[in-house]
Amino acid sequence: MTVVVSSLRIVVTSATNTTDDRRATMKVSAYHSSSQSDPDVHHDHNDCPTGQQIPAYNKVSGTGGFPRCKQCRDKG
Ligand SMILES: [Zn+2]
Repeated sequence: MTVVVSSLRIVVTSATNTTDDRRATMKVSAYHSSSQSDPDVHHDHNDCPTGQQIPAYNKVSGTGGFPRCKQCRDKG
């Protein structure tokens, strides 16, 4: 008794890696949040995690007299 198993599998592997892993640090002019609940700091990098949490309607240009945020200082 002969059993022929025809198992043809075509595995299509998508090797397209579109992950953009660049650490694009963009220095911008100083901005801060007008919200009382946000930390009293100003930012000068547009990719600052804290700065990115400021919604557009709370974003005010200028330092506001606040010190520079730590994450922005670390970025240089
Ligand atoms: Zn910042």
